[in-house]
Amino acid sequence: MHRKLEQSRKLQKRAERLIPGGVNSPVRAFQAVGGDPPFLVRGSGSRVWDADGNEYIDYIGSWGPLILGHAVPKVVEAITAAAKNGMSFGTSTSTEADLAEMVIAAFPSIEKLRFVSSGTEATMSAIRLARAYTKRKYVVKFEGCYHGHADALLVKAGSGIATLGIPGSAGVPEEFAQFTLALPFNNMDAVEHAFSKFKHQIACVIVEPVVGNMGCVPGSGEYLAALRLTTQREKAVLIFDEVMTGFRVAFGGAQELYGIRPDLTTLGKIIGGGLPVGAYCGSSEIMNLVAPLGPMYQAGTLSGNPLAMAAGLATLTHLKEQKDKLYPQLEKLSAELVAGVAAAAKAAGVAICHNRTGSMFTWFFTPGPVTDWTSAAKSDTKAFGRFFHAMLDRGVYLPPSQFEAAFMSSAHTQKDVRETIAAAKQAFGRAAAV
Ligand SMILES: *Cc1c(COP(=O)(O)O)cnc(C)c1O
Repeated sequence: MHRKLEQSRKLQKRAERLIPGGVNSPVRAFQAVGGDPPFLVRGSGSRVWDADGNEYIDYIGSWGPLILGHAVPKVVEAITAAAKNGMSFGTSTSTEADLAEMVIAAFPSIEKLRFVSSGTEATMSAIRLARAYTKRKYVVKFEGCYHGHADALLVKAGSGIATLGIPGSAGVPEEFAQFTLALPFNNMDAVEHAFSKFKHQIACVIVEPVVGNMGCVPGSGEYLAALRLTTQREKAVLIFDEVMTGFRVAFGGAQELYGIRPDLTTLGKIIGGGLPVGAYCGSSEIMNLVAPLGPMYQAGTLSGNPLAMAAGLATLTHLKEQKDKLYPQLEKLSAELVAGVAAAAKAAGVAICHNRTGSMFTWFFTPGPVTDWTSAAKSDTKAFGRFFHAMLDRGVYLPPSQFEAAFMSSAHTQKDVRETIAAAKQAFGRAAAV
């Protein structure tokens, strides 16, 4: 394969002089897979183009937000129309309530929500709120789950932390993380043990019901139901971090899929339609503790930004109108893709396993099964790196880390899937040969 990379390399060198690693989010630097990250200049539907003119079928979708694909005309028009009326006022605008109404209607567990500008802000605020509500200090999280980069949540986190193989982050004093309990995922005994050891001290349990940030690892239905019962019994707040899964695995998120109502939900990614939005959401009883109604403080200069609200509203409106067709179609095509690539691996004698929930999925380079961080970490990341580059050379852009879920959008076609499986057959053939 002779993919031109000259322009991207030049742009990367320049960026490296100005920005740490040349990137504004670590995983973009390709450290886990090596090689040069393409600089993208354009996206349309399921495809993206880089600065050297290479075309790729994109399975990153901006790490989750782009469930409709790139540059969807309806979303672009909504953003443009909003921009013409002014970028930001720092006052309330009616679109905020429009988007809030749509989210609330989609999630039976949500009566009120507060918009912020990222998933990190959403989870950080949800935890502050859970502590304010329970007047307790401890937070339970799970190994390999990523909830943004707030100090107390960077303990044994997924995403870039898992990709770089580091336990947490420098610059977080032990004292800041001393109330964070990191437990193995999909393991109820560990949760029961923590609740008995820290009786009446655990404010909340925060979980990605379908983890996307150690690769795709679904929670078992039994486990998530048990989390609901135990938190209820212990009067602790159950937070579903649905920043990735909200409007992704079903219109009503993982909680619709599993039939479980958490106390608080965090959202982001899709609800911003590609622009920066997050939200923390729950019952009126809990949400009324947020300032100015209550004593829990949280604010944001650009929160509820009119452009971001317009992008989110256009995206959710489309999803709502099309949901009976769109989600089954995503399910069908994703299943076909994941099975096709798995079959190609088997034919080439490469040991992989796969996890998938709707349109989010991962091929792990381990025989599996992968149910938690310990089993995910058994993956042969070097083999993944070779596969990743072989796919990239063949015009298929997967997330550049074994520990990040891939996404399909509603713009992906049968042809995209066929081409991706064909590329995988060649890629595995090569991987087996080396
Ligand atoms: C992406 C993500 C976050 C963080 O969102 P940002 O917008 O990157 O701050 C939090 N939780 C989950 C589950 C995520 O996937």
